[in-house]
Amino acid sequence: MTRAAIKPRKTARGWVLPAPAKLNFYLQVHGRRDDGFHELTTLIAPLRLCDTIVVSATDVATAEIKLRVTPALAPRGDASPEHSPVPSDERNLIVRALRRLREAAGVTRGATVTLIKRIPSLAGMGGGSSDAAAALRAGEAAWGVSLGQRKLHELASEIGSDVPVLLSGEPSVCRGRGEKIEPVHLPAGIPCVVVQPPAALGAGQVYQSLDVTSLPRCSPEGLSELVFALRGGELAAAGRLMLNHLQSPAERLAPAVAAVAQAFTRAGVLAHQMTGSGAAYFGLCQSLRQARCVAAKLRQQGLGWVNVTTTMGSSASYS
Ligand code: ATP
Repeated sequence: MTRAAIKPRKTARGWVLPAPAKLNFYLQVHGRRDDGFHELTTLIAPLRLCDTIVVSATDVATAEIKLRVTPALAPRGDASPEHSPVPSDERNLIVRALRRLREAAGVTRGATVTLIKRIPSLAGMGGGSSDAAAALRAGEAAWGVSLGQRKLHELASEIGSDVPVLLSGEPSVCRGRGEKIEPVHLPAGIPCVVVQPPAALGAGQVYQSLDVTSLPRCSPEGLSELVFALRGGELAAAGRLMLNHLQSPAERLAPAVAAVAQAFTRAGVLAHQMTGSGAAYFGLCQSLRQARCVAAKLRQQGLGWVNVTTTMGSSASYS
């Protein structure tokens, strides 16, 4: 079950909500299921880096969901990520999410939506999924409807495997194809350096080239030891315990990913790996000062888009 960690805010422009990016600190693939999805265990942490979505309801009865996508201005020192084009029609997960919500809640009005895009696309950072999750929450607020957490979670998992966890906005261990969520306590503010190399990897492409018969074996305690290390700020231990079964196939498809991995090692970062199906890659740092220093080194090497951000923590305590 998911809880609303982040709530929409009413403004003159409409209902505004941040849609956080995510990193996978752990991603174990167990195998391919009969329905074509892969069975996973993954530890997901939402980030301060986010898109922003603004939703307002139209006054008249219309089924139209009008979406405008605008790139965000790059913050000082950061170049804008080079986005693969983000569609503004029904291929956009925001439009799909709002249509599903409209149907499920019996809404007759349409909506206008602005998406301010900061999260790189095709990066494994959950950009589209998080936008969809934010659209569900902002759509409920704009149309003045409430489906309840259970139904909203159900809609979210129909839209995409990562949508439920991003709807919750909590660091979580996710199982199944990602929709079975268990919130875990992780500290807020872990400094992260994220690099998006100039390689767009589709999740389908990476999963297809994964050989599920030869995945490295994982210690059953690995994940809980990782959570423990992250809570204690022990980055060397976290680095040894982090895992992403999709990294090897992604490196074969995009050698730029392996180049970024080597650059993080040379920069002295103890915990680093690819997120999701890539191609974005991240390192965890002891302090923001170290993160800025590492980011400056990586920028000089022209490896791609480099961003410094931090993790969002849990809104409640868990064991
Ligand atoms: P994930 O980490 O969930 O695998 P990703 O980073 O690989 O996500 P997204 O940025 O979510 O990928 O985009 C994947 C594709 O989905 C893109 O090709 C894009 O055309 C489409 N898309 C649909 N909606 C969105 C959206 N709101 N933002 C970005 N891309 C979107």
